[in-house]
Amino acid sequence: MNATPLKTRFAPSPTGLLHIGNVRTALYNYLWAHHGSGGFLLRIEDTDATRGEERYTEALMADLRWLGLAWDEGPVSGGSLGPYLQSQRSATYETFAARLIDAGLAYPCFCTEHELKLERKTQVAAGRPPRYSGKCRALSPQEVDARRARGVPATLRFHVADGRTVEFDDKVRGPQRFATNDIGDFVIRRSDGTPAFFFCNAVDDALMGVSLVIRGEDHLTNTPRQILLLEALSLRAPDYAHIPLVVGSDGAPLSKRTGSRSLAELRDAGYLPAAVNNYLARVGHSYDAQGLLSLDELARQFDLTRVHHSPARYDETQLLHWQREAVRAISTEALWRWVGADVSALVPARDRDAFIDAVRPNVTFPSDALHWARAVYADEVTLTHPAREVIETSGAGFFEHSLSAVGQLKALDFSALAAETASRSGAKGKALYQPLRAALTGELHGPEMAKLVPLIGADRLHRRLQRAVEAAAAKSRHVNG
Ligand code: GLU
Repeated sequence: MNATPLKTRFAPSPTGLLHIGNVRTALYNYLWAHHGSGGFLLRIEDTDATRGEERYTEALMADLRWLGLAWDEGPVSGGSLGPYLQSQRSATYETFAARLIDAGLAYPCFCTEHELKLERKTQVAAGRPPRYSGKCRALSPQEVDARRARGVPATLRFHVADGRTVEFDDKVRGPQRFATNDIGDFVIRRSDGTPAFFFCNAVDDALMGVSLVIRGEDHLTNTPRQILLLEALSLRAPDYAHIPLVVGSDGAPLSKRTGSRSLAELRDAGYLPAAVNNYLARVGHSYDAQGLLSLDELARQFDLTRVHHSPARYDETQLLHWQREAVRAISTEALWRWVGADVSALVPARDRDAFIDAVRPNVTFPSDALHWARAVYADEVTLTHPAREVIETSGAGFFEHSLSAVGQLKALDFSALAAETASRSGAKGKALYQPLRAALTGELHGPEMAKLVPLIGADRLHRRLQRAVEAAAAKSRHVNG
């Protein structure tokens, strides 16, 4: 039993932009913390100075903020157990490494990459799993000193005692057992002095009071090593929950080709945070609720026992579904910010609410809103090929009837326009509505005409019908002449 208060964490290495897989890990940690009124901590694992970049740290924090995944403890927000950037915690790691050395549980290893590679090759060739032989453990203090004096670079290895079984109860996958004989002594400090992932990650989870680590199952085999380390340091190990990885649409690891995109790319493409959160919360986790949920509601209904055990496939059509749901749900004010300045510039202030009301069901991305703003407010509509065909087939007479119908209208009312046009031209059903839509919007499908017509306004309505008369007449002249 883990009696410590619930605290989860997200511990990214800032080596690139966040993508779907690690965003989902962050989300699950956030949801589980909020489900249990616990804390959510952010720790930046930037010990690998050659790869980590400050701009990625900034970017990932911006990404989390954009999604609404506020961290209670971590960089910027602070907390009493920091610093929360591993690059600022070297002294702590040194203290704990020294404890292991003093206890005889860690030793310098002078083996070169080349030697280690050769050793692994020999083991694999003999049908054994590759593990470090423990060669440098046998060095006498004099031999160690001599190598140091010669300046031979050394890593620090943790000694894993043979003959034990490490057991833990994974909160997603259930009971796990690992034989220490398969593990081998592993590196906890690189030869450049920086701490290795296994070590600082485990030490920090313990020192920062993390009670549950939710992470990708690619880390599952790291866990017994980390449990051994914490045990050797008399530090409390958190609980672990390893979640299946997100794979591409073809079942293979995510790649650009199979749909993996960075969160920044999704945001730039116009995806809304609610869409990403609702989609990712369901990638590998079942909810009973079918509709769009707020983050609070996603958290309330989140349950580790509902995390799937098989890899989750990334499916862009599902993401699109949640995007449409999110656009339906977003406040008008937020929607205006989202569609951007180009749309705002086209839509007159008096029409703002009516425009959004009209086009919202037909908008998935800001570019759609721009498209409909142009279709409504441009002096001339651009006719799509199918719209032009419908106009030509309907003939100039139909639009002449429609034009004179406009003259009779008391108000700009599409159903009255359609009814008047019908009584004059005799057209009904599709033959009535389709050409009117084609002439007035340039397309055969789109938002409700009853909502668009008042926005199009009398002048443009007139001009567009007139243009349809001309287009149809030109076509019949061409055919007949
Ligand atoms: N920095 C590690 C990573 O990004 C953290 C793994 C973990 O969650 O423990 O993979």
